[in-house]
Formats: sequence, structure tokens, C-alpha cells
Amino acid sequence: MKHVLPLALAVVLVSGCTLFPGVSAPPPEYGIRFKAMRDMPSPNFEPRPWGVAIDMLIIHYTGMENAVSALAHMRDPKARVSAHFVIDEDGTIYRMVAENKRAWHAGTASWGGETNINDRSIGIELVNPGTEFGYRHFPEPQMLTLERLAGDLLERHAIPARNVLGHSDVAPARKQDPGELFDWARLAAAGIGLWPATHQPKKTDNSPDILEAQKLLKSFGYDISANGEEDEHTRLVITAFQSHFHPSGVRGKMDAGTFAVLRAVAAAAQES
Ligand SMILES: [Zn+2]
Repeated sequence: MKHVLPLALAVVLVSGCTLFPGVSAPPPEYGIRFKAMRDMPSPNFEPRPWGVAIDMLIIHYTGMENAVSALAHMRDPKARVSAHFVIDEDGTIYRMVAENKRAWHAGTASWGGETNINDRSIGIELVNPGTEFGYRHFPEPQMLTLERLAGDLLERHAIPARNVLGHSDVAPARKQDPGELFDWARLAAAGIGLWPATHQPKKTDNSPDILEAQKLLKSFGYDISANGEEDEHTRLVITAFQSHFHPSGVRGKMDAGTFAVLRAVAAAAQES
């Protein structure tokens, strides 16, 4: 997708000044904690439904050529997509939608039988070209900022560890973000999200029972039917699981290593 960069926006992004309407210093409620936050409102949001609490945090990558094109896209009313926060590779945070509003980031999605993911979640987009434009590592300033922002959100919202997820977890048939280069283990070490305890494959893991694996994936939250078939959707869910919890072995197949990780994740989820 090609976007023509408005000159004023380019000037603001390069210089960091606040002349461009809509880009400002940190929103007052975040200012002290996040000096590198800028307000960049998106029109693509609506009220959250009455009485629904925020209990999910969804991590994405932008999957566009650069930050400017991603921000412009999410500010385009015709695009009808947004996120609460976008974190650039240098650690700058763009606040696009207020936390108490419903941003449009998850699309058709499902977790633990809930399909209205946008109603109850906060969406954070990480600037990364993604598989289409050159997927690459998430740099340290970006990860450090994410760690701080996510930690701050978890202090203010009752989001259980098992509900800190990637877009691909809640939409495995459509989405691959944030992908296997995203460091979930690091976040978990900082108290953000779930990570399996040390685990060793058992002998019985060598020929994992696909029905048993589907049951574990489903009880954890993935949208999968326990039919005992290694069908296309099951392969997509396994791929999503591996890219989150077993990034060294993303094959779309339930092998011994993945099954051991799955058992450990399921056990950790029960305790969380
Ligand atoms: Zn996404």
C-alpha cells in the first residue's frame, strides 16, 4: 500500500516539534511516566460497550513500510483500523485512541470463546515492516518502551497473564503478528504475560495425541475444535501457538517439543 506523506507530518516526525495539529506533547495522564509519548488521535474508534471491563492486551506489528505510513493508515477514516498505542522502533509512543474507548485493532477474532475482542482489549502496535515488507527484530528501545507501557497498563487494568496475547493468537487463520521474532519470554520475565516453566518432553510426547493437543489448545483459549483431525485450521493454530511459545520450532506440526511446551503452558494458565 502506497501512502503519500503529508509534508507537515513529515516535518513533525523528523523534528519532533508540535506544530502539526493532532501531534502534541505527552497526554497529561501519561506525561510524567512517558516523556516519549505523543498524542496522535485516530478517528477510528467508538465507545466501549457498557459494563465490559478491559481484561486483554493484544500485541501487533504494523506490517507496513515504515512508521509514517502505518500512522497515516490508522488515521485514515476510510481504513477503519486503529490501535490504542503505536510504538516506533526508537521507543516513541503514539497514543491514538484513549484506553476507555474501543479501538479497531483485532478484527474478526476469538479467545476463550469470546469473539468481541475489541470490546475488552487494549491494542498495541509495534512498528515493524512485517513479512510483507521485511520482517526484522524488534529493537531494544522499542522493547524497553513496550515493557514499561505494558507494565503500566497491567497496574491499572485487571488483565490476567494468560490474556496477554498476540494478534495471531486471537486470529490464527488470518494473522501472523507479532511473529516468532517477538520476545515473549523477556516480557514474561518482567511480569507481563505467561511463560511456561522449564519442561522436558516425555517419551509419550514423541507421538502426540492430536485430540489431546486440541483440547489443551482450546482450554487455553484458542479457537479450535477438538475433532482429532490434523486439519488446516489445526495447523494454523499450532503455528500461532509455536510462534508465541516455541519460536525456535515454528512448523505448524504438533511435535514432541511443542507438545511438552503446550502441557507446560496449560499448567501455567491454570495457576494464573
Ligand atoms: Zn495485528
